[in-house]
Amino acid sequence: MVRQYPYKYIDRSRFYKIAELADEDTYVQIIGEVTEWHTVGIGKAQRLSATFNDGTHQCELVWFKGVQYVKLQRGVKYLLFGKPSRFNHIYNFVHPELTPWDKVTPEMTQGLEPYYNTTDTMKRHGLNSRAIRTMIADLMPDVRRGVPDTIGMDILQHYRLMSLTDALVNVHFPKDTPTMQSARARLKFEELFYVQLQILRQMKRRELNPGFAMPMVGNRFHALYKALPFDLTNAQKRVIHEIHDDLKSGHQMNRLLQGDVGSGKTLVALLCCLLAVDNGYQACIMAPTEILANQHYETLKHFLAPLGDAVHVALLTGSITPKNRVPIHNGLMNGTIHILIGTHALLEDAVQWQNLGFVVIDEQHRFGVAQRARLWTKNQTPPHILVMTATPIPRTLAMTVYGDLHVSIIDELPPGRKPVQTIHYSLLRQAQIYSFLLKQIQAGRQIYVVYPLIKENEKMDLQDLQNGFNTLCEAFPDYKISMVHGQMRAADKDLQMQRFASGETQILVATTVIEVGVNVPNATVMVIQNAERFGLSQLHQLRGRVGRGAEQSYCLLLTDDEISTDTRKRMNIMVETNDGFRIAEADLALRGPGDLEGTLQSGTPFNLQIANLATDGQLVALARQAAMDILEKDPLLEDEMNRIYKRQLDILRVTQSYNWGEIS
Ligand code: ADP
Ligand code: MG
Repeated sequence: MVRQYPYKYIDRSRFYKIAELADEDTYVQIIGEVTEWHTVGIGKAQRLSATFNDGTHQCELVWFKGVQYVKLQRGVKYLLFGKPSRFNHIYNFVHPELTPWDKVTPEMTQGLEPYYNTTDTMKRHGLNSRAIRTMIADLMPDVRRGVPDTIGMDILQHYRLMSLTDALVNVHFPKDTPTMQSARARLKFEELFYVQLQILRQMKRRELNPGFAMPMVGNRFHALYKALPFDLTNAQKRVIHEIHDDLKSGHQMNRLLQGDVGSGKTLVALLCCLLAVDNGYQACIMAPTEILANQHYETLKHFLAPLGDAVHVALLTGSITPKNRVPIHNGLMNGTIHILIGTHALLEDAVQWQNLGFVVIDEQHRFGVAQRARLWTKNQTPPHILVMTATPIPRTLAMTVYGDLHVSIIDELPPGRKPVQTIHYSLLRQAQIYSFLLKQIQAGRQIYVVYPLIKENEKMDLQDLQNGFNTLCEAFPDYKISMVHGQMRAADKDLQMQRFASGETQILVATTVIEVGVNVPNATVMVIQNAERFGLSQLHQLRGRVGRGAEQSYCLLLTDDEISTDTRKRMNIMVETNDGFRIAEADLALRGPGDLEGTLQSGTPFNLQIANLATDGQLVALARQAAMDILEKDPLLEDEMNRIYKRQLDILRVTQSYNWGEIS
């Protein structure tokens, strides 16, 4: 119960004047008198309306319920407490607390008053915030006598944190704001510390997992390396070294590869697959969509062409017929297939490997944590896992969402790329936009036009897309246009994509199915319709579809003329920067981690009660450091002095809804 923290506080030591009230969503208290009142209506519809005067100004008090219990007196000094709202130039308070001044106790107007979240069910049983406050106040004498701390003295001192006893007292009944903040900081730290302790312990344990040893850099790797038409960037080379070090170690690798769109992750993944194949193992690359799986397949075949028969690659997606799956299943069993590319279809039970040693999960945020776990358990010895994402994740969020993975970053784009120029247009400037697009097409370039989808099956959205397609057909009668959306049959989708990729069509009208990974270097313009309906990370992903060739590329963000402040901020960030990490930080700040987790889908397996990943980044880093320091010396928490941590982890495992099991 005392671990149910307030979600806000109201400063009861402050008194307002009516003249000072502003349209803010806060509670205030005012001293004054009731000068006049009357009831309107009868029976259930009855309401009581009163005028309250603080000596200089007036406001209105209203009761809809329990009118018969409200006893008002003229000429009596009252303390009014409630939330004002403005209506017809006068402030009014609905169901305020009105206490005669001689009944006001000192406690009522002291310090910060805590407010607690309650559910409807709780309210129906009379458990409103006030009732909870009373119950917690009753528990305080016990708390004050001292509760055993959950964090060791050394850490408390080092990070200057309150004891648990002080924190619990002051989180509920703080005497002032700084004390309240210190109490909350201590509790946030504790929460984040245990999350990190669990994540890092998992990681340490996994580092001890046996893994397939792949020490050799073999013929296939060298052959591809020599056949590449360009040099690898330094960042690509560094990352391949990092991965190879893991592969040599004899322990299972769990690594996250982050790199902005176009940074060349696919090639890195392929080279690493070849490291595995050269050492006698099979590899697979799992993509979130069929389009992307197809494209990886084509890309790999293209890169591997100079190697002839040395590497056998196969593709397995949902649209491959059962008949055509048989040879794939056989090839995987007898080891003739070296690398398998695919979608979720890869996870089906029918897929059995001879010796799967290396797994690449592309754009992992589309996969659930549970699916990641399924790959883990497919063989006895777990394969090495490389998770790739083009969605840069702010460092502090990554520490939690991907906290159990080692991280490699490709922070360099291949040379010769021109930054995409981003422009924000109001839809009103349609004519100007069309003439720009026409010039680009006449210069031989291609164009993406993307429409938002909330749900792939919403008729309205599809209608928007169809209308957009028709409008473009009328506007560009001399050119060919492809259309792709989520409800099309995979074969039709592929055909349309193929027509665009080969340059047969000049414009591709699409929903966000093209968001990830599609690569058409000749496309130089990305038009995003209703850009206000996309999140920042998504906009950045879409923009990454252009700027892949030598020509200057453009991203046009189209929105309504009238947009919210938030939308304007997002558009400005897009216009200002191409840096994925900056965009991710801004996204986190604007949307909060809850939304981001939605996008990441895999989410964090941790339900944070008091800490907030968007705003408590610094505490995340400190908590991780503290947990790291402990585990470095005592990975299994066996020391006598680390007893409390081990015990607390066991308690948390039982009482909280952390999905520990799924990330192991
Ligand atoms: P990502 O998957 O990181 O978005 P890709 O792997 O699709 O990026 O690479 C984008 C493009 O850059 C591809 O056409 C790829 O062949 C090319 N590429 C990759 N590495 C290099 C490099 N070192 N130099 C030049 N081009 C590269
Ligand atoms: Mg890619």
